[in-house]
Amino acid sequence: MRQGDKIYVAGHRGLVGSAIVRRLRESGYGNLVVRTHAQLELMDTPAVRRFFDEERPEAVFLAAARVGGIAANDAYPAEFLHQNLMIQSNVIDAAWRAGTKKLLFLGSSCIYPKHARQPMKEEHLLSGQLEPTNEAYAIAKIAGIKMCAAYNRQYGTNFLAAMPTNLYGPGDNYDAETGHVVPALMRRMHEAKEKRAAAVKVWGSGKPRRELLYSDDLADATVFLMERCDAADVGEFINVGNGAELTVAELAGEIAAVVGFEGLLEFDASRPDGTPRKLLDSSRLAALGWRPTTPLRLGLERAYADFLKGARHA
Ligand code: GDP
Repeated sequence: MRQGDKIYVAGHRGLVGSAIVRRLRESGYGNLVVRTHAQLELMDTPAVRRFFDEERPEAVFLAAARVGGIAANDAYPAEFLHQNLMIQSNVIDAAWRAGTKKLLFLGSSCIYPKHARQPMKEEHLLSGQLEPTNEAYAIAKIAGIKMCAAYNRQYGTNFLAAMPTNLYGPGDNYDAETGHVVPALMRRMHEAKEKRAAAVKVWGSGKPRRELLYSDDLADATVFLMERCDAADVGEFINVGNGAELTVAELAGEIAAVVGFEGLLEFDASRPDGTPRKLLDSSRLAALGWRPTTPLRLGLERAYADFLKGARHA
């Protein structure tokens, strides 16, 4: 991927896509193509093919997806499976047809088995049963990895796949019910602080461990991969994590400190814990020369500033 290339960022309004656009612009990439959902329905195969025929992007970042936290994944498995399969199949196939030179498909660490050995290495894919709360999403993402690999093998494309750990950052979904743990707790704690409430509910036991990566760090990794690595270097896909994990209880404490919520944390056992641990082994990416730079506290502070900006506009 080079500066003058025409680059399509699918999902440019999402947490990941917006970070990729910021990162590309900062590095002087001026020929970006984006479409809102209203302008282009990525589940519409003929519309996606037409778009690729007209624009012929040289590089594609596939960050468009139906996503959500543990409750949304659990409540809408049909939509998570159907929409993700449609979006990714349409974009990957249309990119090949239009002669796109390089594509990066984004997935998630939930592709790994629920009880995978920790830290999870790329070769642990498909070595055991998935976590039921996000099985539909995981199956779609695994299909995306395999589709890129199949196109590379059969058609000689250069399509990469990156699997980031749990993400957070500006532009996240701050809905307390459908969001991921960081934005959902940020909202609940912020509202509790405003109302001077004594306690905030934290879902599950607080014992699961999660590894968190700031969205701008992921964006940096994706641009690194697109600039410097080919599918042959990367293998079927590559993990993108930061190497550190903490319990949900510890994470809730960090968010409370950033938000300034001083009340109690009440663990709600009626809500699911999900996977007990999912720490990625990111040594393959480290060996290629990439490392994250944003410490959790700083990332949470930036995310909270973004939340407050939105809260003022709401
Ligand atoms: P997951 O990694 O796919 O499980 O994604 P989530 O970000 O939705 O959840 C991570 C962990 O945080 C799970 O163990 C949840 O039970 C826990 N958690 C605690 N409070 C919340 C909350 O308010 N929202 C979400 N989504 N998860 C929460």
